[in-house]
Amino acid sequence: MAEVFAEFRELGRVVTRLHPRRGDPGVWESSVGGPLVWPVGESWPTCPGHQGVQKNVERVADVRAARRIRRDRFRSGRELTSEEREFLDSRRRESEVVVEQPVPLLPLLQVFARDVPWLEWPAGRDVLQVLMCPMDHLDEPDFDLPGVSVWDHGMAPPTVVRWRSTDSVGAVGAHPMPSMVQFDHYYPEPCVLFPERLVEYPHLWELPEDLAEAVEEWEEISGYDYRSQLSNVPGWVLGGWPEPGATDPPDEMACTECGGEMRPLLRISRMEWDVEGVSWCPIEEFDRDPADREETKEPTGVMYGADGTLHLYRCWENGEHPLQQMAL
Ligand SMILES: [Zn+2]
Ligand SMILES: [Zn+2]
Repeated sequence: MAEVFAEFRELGRVVTRLHPRRGDPGVWESSVGGPLVWPVGESWPTCPGHQGVQKNVERVADVRAARRIRRDRFRSGRELTSEEREFLDSRRRESEVVVEQPVPLLPLLQVFARDVPWLEWPAGRDVLQVLMCPMDHLDEPDFDLPGVSVWDHGMAPPTVVRWRSTDSVGAVGAHPMPSMVQFDHYYPEPCVLFPERLVEYPHLWELPEDLAEAVEEWEEISGYDYRSQLSNVPGWVLGGWPEPGATDPPDEMACTECGGEMRPLLRISRMEWDVEGVSWCPIEEFDRDPADREETKEPTGVMYGADGTLHLYRCWENGEHPLQQMAL
């Protein structure tokens, strides 16, 4: 874009594609859905909002077993056995659970500064951790979840973010994991990360009007689709430009602490690359067997929000001010 339009030279922002891929991440590795570096003696965040009988929840063990069955069947092209079919059918019917304790949050993401040194890290911090309540909050009244991001009560559970310094972590302990999630697609498959630094250009709606018109004219001639191929990056992404949703562009979002500008910290969208074509498919995976493509397109198995995207915004003046979360 910068070669075609001089105006774009000033519009690029650094963005990181995290490229999660299924694996077995260790505690000192950047990961999605992996164990977090957690100091012994520091309590693991829990959500108090779900005690009592919970209907329509999924046991994490069942989610993992069901995914294994589906993956194996997809790869081999075989039919389900009657036992497998019975299991897949019954886990829906029997999904009532009595919750006695506050629910431990899910580890969603951990990123070390050594893997993404170009991110704007708050002074002295070198690990970013994002945790999420595994349960829906659509019908929940307001209640305190300590350290929660400012949250729009939208179509995804609230998140909690920690910026840490590895120097001050001390001894690291095992942490709890939730035994259930509201939906299969709230549970991230453990993944290791392959971060890639890119330049991202704004969504068409964020461009000055005359430039947006010029881009649309250029699309007709060039055959490129600016929105899906050349602006917002799909998948798990750090930094960059906002990706406005269909109903709620985040124009007026401001920091609740200082009124400063909010910029994207994390965007989680369901697909790592294009549903229809191969735009954004990593070169390394271009020639993979189609049977493996499900793993490279949707490696984490999560979907948050009705349109499949969760956004976390940070204060651009002070990275440790409260984050804001949106999911449409
Ligand atoms: Zn909750
Ligand atoms: Zn602020």
